[in-house]
Amino acid sequence: MKPSSGRVTPELITKIKEAVNLVDVIGEHVVLRKAGANFSGLCPFHAERSPSFSVSETKQLYHCYGCKKSGDLLTFFQEIHGLSFMDAIEELAERGRVALPKDWSGNSSDDPEQKARRDAAMEKQQLAYKLNRFVAAWMHTTLPKLPYAEQYFRKRGVDADLARAFYVGAAPAGWDALAQHLVQTKAPIELAVELGLIRPSKKQQAQGPGYFDLFRNRAMFPILDLRGRVAGFGGRMMPPPPGSPERSQDSNAAAAGDKEAPKYINSSDSFVFQKGKLAYGLYQAQKHVRLLDEVVLVEGYFDVLALHAAGFQNAVAICGTSLTYDHLNMFGKLGSKVTLLLDGDRAGIAATERAMETGLERGQVLYGASMPVGLDPDEVLFDQETGKATSDGHERMKAILAGARPLLDTRIDECILEAQQGPEARTLALKQIAGWLSIFKDPVGREIRMESVQKSLEVSRSLLERAMGEGQGYQAQVQTKRGPEAIRPNSPISSPKKSGGPVAPVANPVARPQNPKPAMPSDSQQEPPPGHPASSSSGENRAQARPVPRSGGAATRNSRPKTVLSNRDKVLLGALVRGGQYAELMSNAQRSLPPKLLFADLFDYPPASEFVAALLEDPGFLENFRAGSDQVLQERIDPQVRSTITEALIAGEAPYQISEVKLALERGLKRALERFSQQIMAAIAEAQANKDAGLEAELMKEYLDVKRKIKEFTSFYDEA
Ligand SMILES: [Zn+2]
Repeated sequence: MKPSSGRVTPELITKIKEAVNLVDVIGEHVVLRKAGANFSGLCPFHAERSPSFSVSETKQLYHCYGCKKSGDLLTFFQEIHGLSFMDAIEELAERGRVALPKDWSGNSSDDPEQKARRDAAMEKQQLAYKLNRFVAAWMHTTLPKLPYAEQYFRKRGVDADLARAFYVGAAPAGWDALAQHLVQTKAPIELAVELGLIRPSKKQQAQGPGYFDLFRNRAMFPILDLRGRVAGFGGRMMPPPPGSPERSQDSNAAAAGDKEAPKYINSSDSFVFQKGKLAYGLYQAQKHVRLLDEVVLVEGYFDVLALHAAGFQNAVAICGTSLTYDHLNMFGKLGSKVTLLLDGDRAGIAATERAMETGLERGQVLYGASMPVGLDPDEVLFDQETGKATSDGHERMKAILAGARPLLDTRIDECILEAQQGPEARTLALKQIAGWLSIFKDPVGREIRMESVQKSLEVSRSLLERAMGEGQGYQAQVQTKRGPEAIRPNSPISSPKKSGGPVAPVANPVARPQNPKPAMPSDSQQEPPPGHPASSSSGENRAQARPVPRSGGAATRNSRPKTVLSNRDKVLLGALVRGGQYAELMSNAQRSLPPKLLFADLFDYPPASEFVAALLEDPGFLENFRAGSDQVLQERIDPQVRSTITEALIAGEAPYQISEVKLALERGLKRALERFSQQIMAAIAEAQANKDAGLEAELMKEYLDVKRKIKEFTSFYDEA
């Protein structure tokens, strides 16, 4: 097969696939379990409760028996992250440490100026992620060198495995340890300043590296995006190191030179770190969120680690900001339920209410579970002295999470309770509740609450509506209520999970693979035109010998092209690519074809026919293809064809009965002959019109041959 682009060679793709294991990549998104020769799990592309998503490690292919999505490393990576083919190549090459060709310049564009700008931005972004990763690695390896810091983690239940999985680290207590390291290793200093890792220092210029660290004496938590890139850092203040002069005082403040050092600090917002679009631990949690259909939001980074360590692996934390619409959209692609794990003392009540309202604006009701007063999750789960799991911690946490209630209903109930104190309390309660309902973008959920609030507060419908009308949101919604959609697409009722798959195909259209022609070209363009059947007498090349044009088997002028792959086509296609016990049957069938029919003509569905034509064009190709060189899946293959191929290749046992394949072959051949005879008839009519008696006679003979063949098949069926 020809590569999709001049620069993406099959060799490059092969190298990437050798370096990056599909099972590892899918394993980041799906909890996979071994099932026979393959792995299986819940499909990341459609909502399901029992696993129908299958991954073959030996074939490096995946297939969903539910939604039929299928493919290989590159298709998976593109689809799950919404990337273009070229972007997927770049990122996977980076991940597998595969060098890109020297003249590689990513996505090409027509406008060189625009292209140069985009390339520069892309390069800077990649460098930023690289630098962050470099810093994360340094902090991670610094941790074992600082026993007090290591102990600090251990006491909070973070063992070596967890430390590695989250790549936690430590920032030393000095002023410029990181700055010195960066200067010594000739890292891009300006970029490190821009990313908020270091800052220029006048004082340090005299004797030090000229820069000072922004994270000092802190437990460090790299914050990854969903693709596993280090976007930034969170740092939690640690007690001062033993023997340090500041140990007796408020040391961190002293070390930081600030009046009051905050408990947590994060990277400053930059082009790679946007707090509102990241959640700590989500990279590691994403597959568990998908599996459990729930994300648990906690306050601190240590809480995330503690919950993961205790088996609650769907826990994440937002990074020093309030919950945003973007967060909820990001979570919503993985699971439908969002549970906030709240402080028992309700210190976070204002933040909780804001989060609840953000949810309502999205048509979503968030859940809240309360911690026992005065306890953090890591205190429930781990003994704070020894770092050992508490005996009842897991059960307690399970009960706490099981007690989660919809925040909206909890708050409405509280308001209704307060309303009992008198008319003014009732007024306030009504206004408060009406405010929430007015922004709640799920008409069904809102209506249900309106009905129950009317009863509980003993108010009329019109009074409640008037109170809600004061909230702008409700009026706007009432005005558009007669619109086509009564239920918002993102409301939890209309789409309980994952509206439209995890990542909408937002691949940059400019960045599509530069492949102007279809990857599986039909050779119809090269056929002799209808009025020139003369070449048929040469008989050299079957493709040229045919007296009538063919266009991918079924797409004749007389029959409308099929848009769905029929079961017969599926069996034929699957058996052909699978080979093995079907190989002999297939090659026999190919040999028994009349001289002017191609095996590809047996298919009703044009893309299948084109695919098979290309596959059989080169005798060695089918063998390579079966052997696992599945370059062909890189091409812009029809999804139904691709799905059938992967399903056949990935199946543990032979996917079809021999008799089934035989029947499909016979029926396919019969249909192909019928189509062929129609085409000859048309050619005969044309020859008659052109008064070409010689050609007419030749075609007639051919027609009778075909008719006889068809009759043979028909009688075979009659007997069967
Ligand atoms: Zn699926």
